[in-house]
Amino acid sequence: MEVVELKCKDCNKWYGAEDDEFGPCMIKHMRGDKKYVTHGMHDCDEEEGRVGG
Ligand code: SF4
Repeated sequence: MEVVELKCKDCNKWYGAEDDEFGPCMIKHMRGDKKYVTHGMHDCDEEEGRVGG
Protein backbone atom coordinates (compact mmCIF):
# COMPACT_ATOMS: atom_id res chain seq x y z
CA MET A 1 0.00 0.00 0.00
CA GLU A 2 1.35 3.35 -1.01
CA VAL A 3 1.45 6.04 1.61
CA VAL A 4 1.44 9.59 0.39
CA GLU A 5 2.73 11.98 2.99
CA LEU A 6 0.44 14.88 3.62
CA LYS A 7 2.14 18.23 3.21
CA CYS A 8 1.06 21.20 5.25
CA LYS A 9 0.22 23.22 2.16
CA ASP A 10 -2.36 20.58 1.22
CA CYS A 11 -3.83 20.33 4.70
CA ASN A 12 -7.04 21.97 5.81
CA LYS A 13 -5.49 22.54 9.25
CA TRP A 14 -2.82 24.74 7.74
CA TYR A 15 -3.54 28.44 7.78
CA GLY A 16 -0.79 29.60 5.49
CA ALA A 17 -1.60 31.40 2.27
CA GLU A 18 -0.86 29.42 -0.87
CA ASP A 19 2.14 31.49 -1.83
CA ASP A 20 3.53 31.71 1.70
CA GLU A 21 6.24 29.25 2.60
CA PHE A 22 5.34 29.18 6.26
CA GLY A 23 2.03 29.10 8.07
CA PRO A 24 0.50 27.99 11.35
CA CYS A 25 -0.74 24.45 11.92
CA MET A 26 -4.03 24.77 13.78
CA ILE A 27 -3.55 21.47 15.60
CA LYS A 28 -0.20 22.58 17.00
CA HIS A 29 -1.55 26.04 17.74
CA MET A 30 -4.62 24.78 19.61
CA ARG A 31 -2.42 22.45 21.64
CA GLY A 32 -0.20 25.36 22.60
CA ASP A 33 2.98 24.19 20.90
CA LYS A 34 5.69 26.81 20.84
CA LYS A 35 6.57 25.86 17.29
CA TYR A 36 3.22 25.82 15.58
CA VAL A 37 4.39 27.48 12.39
CA THR A 38 5.33 24.94 9.75
CA HIS A 39 6.73 25.00 6.27
CA GLY A 40 4.28 24.35 3.45
CA MET A 41 6.34 21.37 2.30
CA HIS A 42 6.62 19.94 5.81
CA ASP A 43 5.51 16.30 6.04
CA CYS A 44 2.64 15.99 8.46
CA ASP A 45 3.56 14.71 11.92
CA GLU A 46 0.02 14.90 13.31
CA GLU A 47 -2.32 11.90 13.35
CA GLU A 48 -5.35 14.12 12.98
CA GLY A 49 -3.95 15.83 9.93
CA ARG A 50 -3.24 12.53 8.20
CA VAL A 51 -6.80 11.41 8.69
CA GLY A 52 -8.47 14.69 7.80
CA GLY A 53 -6.33 15.54 4.81
S1 SF4 B 1 1.48 19.35 10.57
FE1 SF4 B 1 -0.06 18.05 9.69
S2 SF4 B 1 -1.98 18.76 10.63
FE2 SF4 B 1 -0.49 20.37 10.89
S3 SF4 B 1 -0.80 21.71 9.12
FE3 SF4 B 1 0.84 20.27 8.64
S4 SF4 B 1 -0.17 18.64 7.52
FE4 SF4 B 1 -1.75 19.77 8.66
